[in-house]
Amino acid sequence: MSLAPVSLSSLENLDQLVAPGADQSFRLTISESYSGVMIQIPIFVRRGALPGPSAFITAALHGNEINGTGAITHVIRDPPFRLLRGRLVMVPVVNVHGFETYSRYLPDRRDLNRSFPGSAQGSLAARMAHRVFQEIVKRCDFGIDLHTAAVRRTNFPNVRGDFSIPAIKKLGAAFGCQWMINSHGPLGSLRREATRQGVPTIILEAGEVWKVEPRVVVVAMRGIRNVLALQNMTDEAPEPTPMQQVIEKTRWVRAERGGFLEFHVAPGEVVRCDQPLATNNSLFGAERNVLYAPCDAVVIGMTTLPAASPGEPVIHLGEIPRSLVDLILSPELQHCPDPLHDQVKEDLATNIVVTAKEASGDATSPND
Ligand SMILES: [Zn+2]
Repeated sequence: MSLAPVSLSSLENLDQLVAPGADQSFRLTISESYSGVMIQIPIFVRRGALPGPSAFITAALHGNEINGTGAITHVIRDPPFRLLRGRLVMVPVVNVHGFETYSRYLPDRRDLNRSFPGSAQGSLAARMAHRVFQEIVKRCDFGIDLHTAAVRRTNFPNVRGDFSIPAIKKLGAAFGCQWMINSHGPLGSLRREATRQGVPTIILEAGEVWKVEPRVVVVAMRGIRNVLALQNMTDEAPEPTPMQQVIEKTRWVRAERGGFLEFHVAPGEVVRCDQPLATNNSLFGAERNVLYAPCDAVVIGMTTLPAASPGEPVIHLGEIPRSLVDLILSPELQHCPDPLHDQVKEDLATNIVVTAKEASGDATSPND
């Protein structure tokens, strides 16, 4: 049983503060509020009885992305694995400002996840990023950062990282998502800067803001358990992933017309080039135009809001090889070999209406 949280301003003496085999929660001071109250982030440290690597798991760096918060609080309260070696530094909410106000951002409207590694003399965001980076990230050997899609969008679970680096590719593959997106990450993002400074970091992108989605939480916890198993921090064997693909290129299919979207695909669905993705209708139901897949792809994310104006992002596609599309859509393969994959797909599609595209007539109608 862990003791009451300890307030501190540095995690420098973590090994003295948490004995081997013990747990401890902390409140790390990283800023001050307008009314002069200390801003502290909650940190839970679990130490294995034996020496080993040090890992961080962070969530809600964007304050409204709380699926990861749900996963971490679960791992804290009811651990699905026994940590034997090393140290796990879990931060259920990094951006406490945003979390308190249901917002992605900080009070100065800056994005904390574009502010790393930060600086001690910079803006509010830069200073907070600096504290998080120096106190948490730099004290670890690798990390997992948990995210969701932005407001009014959802993501099918996928891990992202710079997979040109073998250590990151191993982490990403072990995590166990079917889809792995190879990218450095945006400038100033925690994973990009951590990786650049020698702390290999992957992220999970899954689900929506303002929600703790049950099966997304299962995906996150399975991934955490698999990565810790890979690093020999537990005595479990990582669960093998039956089907996995690295995606090198992603693109958004954007609305061409203003109108009300009828979706023909759901998150996680595999689509063929030229397949209809969504129909943009007038509010009287007349078809205005149809959006088609520009390539063979998987739907890694999409809007959940059917109202769209020209240029607004509708479907986020990850390009995949034709051979994989053929395999996944083959009549022999009725379900993905990973049952959790199918379950999440089912769950995420309950948020949107998905209809089959009927044989269409003219894309513009007199009732338009
Ligand atoms: Zn995010």
